Amino acid sequence: MKGDDNKELILYVDDEQKNLDSFKVIFRRDYDVTVADSAVQGMKIMEEKDVRLVITDQRMPNMTGVEFLEKISNIYPDVTRVILTGYSDEEAIISAINKGKVFRYITKPWKKDELKQTIDYALDSYRLRNQNKELLSRLKKTNQELDEFVYRASHDLRAPIASILGLINLAKTETDKEKLVEYLLLGEKSIEKLDYLLKDIIQFSRNSHLKINTEKIDFDHLIKTTFELHKFFEVSGDVEKNYVIKGDVEFKSDKFRLEVILSNLVSNAIRYSNLNQNSASLSVDVLIDKDWATIKVTDNGVGIDEEQLDRIFDMFYRGIDDNTGSGLGLYIVKETIDKLSGRIFVNSISGKGSEFMVQIPNQLGIEDFVM
Ligand code: ADP
Repeated sequence: MKGDDNKELILYVDDEQKNLDSFKVIFRRDYDVTVADSAVQGMKIMEEKDVRLVITDQRMPNMTGVEFLEKISNIYPDVTRVILTGYSDEEAIISAINKGKVFRYITKPWKKDELKQTIDYALDSYRLRNQNKELLSRLKKTNQELDEFVYRASHDLRAPIASILGLINLAKTETDKEKLVEYLLLGEKSIEKLDYLLKDIIQFSRNSHLKINTEKIDFDHLIKTTFELHKFFEVSGDVEKNYVIKGDVEFKSDKFRLEVILSNLVSNAIRYSNLNQNSASLSVDVLIDKDWATIKVTDNGVGIDEEQLDRIFDMFYRGIDDNTGSGLGLYIVKETIDKLSGRIFVNSISGKGSEFMVQIPNQLGIEDFVM
């Protein structure tokens, strides 16, 4: 937790009360300042608060500034450290650099401007180091995902190819026409599977690389074409599809990405429909206001077990292996929604059905309201 909402917390340690008082008076407008009159008290504050920068006097009874900073550098290596020393205290300066790993040393008496500049540099350096850390951990995660992606994608691409090659081998020596047709149909299934996976990989890659392109969205057209696209799914004829669009404002966003989101959710609602159900159905409900489009895709299909709900957005996760999907659909949906700074929620009851609710920010600008 930070000491103040916006300002970064600075700890100043000095055994002389008047120095603490003047430091506070001089800097309290610019920074969130906390003070301690000994290294021990300083340590206590460090344990309780999210201190970003420590400035300490060198000459203090019990524990010197260098000893204090040395201790801190082991326990809180990310906190930036500055020491105040006497002008001629060369030995202290050297140990502050070597042992206390200080960012800067300032000789006393310090001048306000000089110390302020040092504090600003020190806080900048803290911020930069933190940003670097965050970027590095994001990069690591992306690399791991990429590794897993390449491994799994190549494995999943090879499986249908191996199956097609096997069928071709069988067909070469087969004379029975019926058997040959059976092999061809099986081959067709494998090719469809390859096609699904390639479609997903293309969607994934386009989402990562393409710039966001904002335009007016015609939901009526978008939903109709999505339904149309999925007409050829085996069971889709049996699933009744409805949609409702509400709201009297325009909606602007990235059309390609919305197509990807809707297409994956509708495809799932169809593929995971409950075939034992008399009237399998899905509905798309859209509510538009000036801030968001809220899109709900609801089905009365097989539903999702509670323990699976946390994992359905993972890369390559498949809860139901019916040989039609790649396990990438919802991962792509999530990544695409993230790109649009939107959010997704899911509600599902096993055996009853699922509801996926997506909220996408409306990119309608001020210029759109000008008459
Ligand atoms: P795929 O459909 O290719 O398996 P997805 O990432 O689209 O991959 O979905 C992951 C898993 O989430 C599916 O395997 C399925 O178990 C579950 N799931 C997704 N959508 C639905 C739905 N509408 N109804 C029931 N289960 C679903």
